[in-house]
Amino acid sequence: MSHKSEAILVGCSDPRLRPWYDDYLKRRGFGADGVDLVMVPGAVPALGGEFSQTQVELIADWIKALFDLHRFDEAVLTSHEDCGAVGGAGVYNDREKEETAHIDWCERAGKALRDKLPDDVKITLVYVTLEDFEKFAV
Ligand SMILES: [Zn+2]
Repeated sequence: MSHKSEAILVGCSDPRLRPWYDDYLKRRGFGADGVDLVMVPGAVPALGGEFSQTQVELIADWIKALFDLHRFDEAVLTSHEDCGAVGGAGVYNDREKEETAHIDWCERAGKALRDKLPDDVKITLVYVTLEDFEKFAV
């Protein structure tokens, strides 16, 4: 039996994000069984090349494997404020600089994934703040 997903959500496993993930998926109208999840520490910075090329390939391959199984239409890549996987907010001590770094990781992750998925799969990039949640969506 095959299963088609509507989207894949790639994000950090930090439990503070869970309410946002749930709310976002609900607001987007995705069904309860319609979204594949890839949740690992600092997932999008890792996919964006922050740690190693091996991690970029590993995460991109997981996403591609899930696409081959479930043919989702959209990949939502999220990175978040105060992510411990990249040192937390204390590394920056400046919200704007931190936001810029995460947006850069989102964009690099999107590029790393672009070649792995068909052109008609939409890639959505979201930076999530802990205070007011969604900061931007591209
Ligand atoms: Zn995190």
